[in-house]
Amino acid sequence: MTTHTRPPTDARTSRTARITDRIEDLLEPMTTVGTQWVALDALGYLADLGYGPKVRLAPTAHTVVHPPLVEQLARDAGGSTAGTSSSTGHESRPPGSLDAADTLRTMRRQSRWWVTRAFSADSTRLPADLRLIASRAHELDDDDLRYLDRDVLGWWSHARITTTWATAPMKPNVPCMVCAQVGGLQVVIEPLAAICRRCGSAWDAATIGVLGEHVRLATAAMLDEPRVARRTPSRARDEGLPRILTGLVYESAAGE
Ligand SMILES: [Zn+2]
Repeated sequence: MTTHTRPPTDARTSRTARITDRIEDLLEPMTTVGTQWVALDALGYLADLGYGPKVRLAPTAHTVVHPPLVEQLARDAGGSTAGTSSSTGHESRPPGSLDAADTLRTMRRQSRWWVTRAFSADSTRLPADLRLIASRAHELDDDDLRYLDRDVLGWWSHARITTTWATAPMKPNVPCMVCAQVGGLQVVIEPLAAICRRCGSAWDAATIGVLGEHVRLATAAMLDEPRVARRTPSRARDEGLPRILTGLVYESAAGE
């Protein structure tokens, strides 16, 4: 039924643009605008909630500038290097820090490979390496460009999902279609991306249909198991989903 969208005639151009966009996403600060409720008095001035009968709540636009994804990862991974030498088994790091450290490590290793092997340049710091890759991606032949596209998708989606600040990723409780391990799949909606923490596979809006179909089949096979009945689909979550994932991905909290 679902078929892959045909690569455009100028596949190279769109691939290169996608690589550049995603690397920019990793390196540039991002601004989000949300709604914050503030207390106002009868005259419309900011009021202290504790005072006055006329205080009302009004929505105001709240702009937040988030640091670049790579910086967020480095910050989240912060404590993890301490564990390498002096760890005595005491675990005080937040759970996200290991994922952040993992994501950063993979990104460093792979980007260093591209800089030194594919572009015969000197590897320096991660942001500089990433910029070099973005600016020289167009030099690669078709095969290498495709591999780079895949690697960058991995960096981008892992960084996105690891540093999600607004909504926790959803975790469909089915085996990964690549490594067959359960418990590694994570999906975020905006922008649409999915990863497997176990094997490092990544999907984006163009490829997630395949994963969705796999999730649907795997979920159908588990329908008799009691744990499935316990979970309730979230309507709010479903609304932004591609149709193939609707009703099949559940709040992460329910599965934990
Ligand atoms: Zn996997």
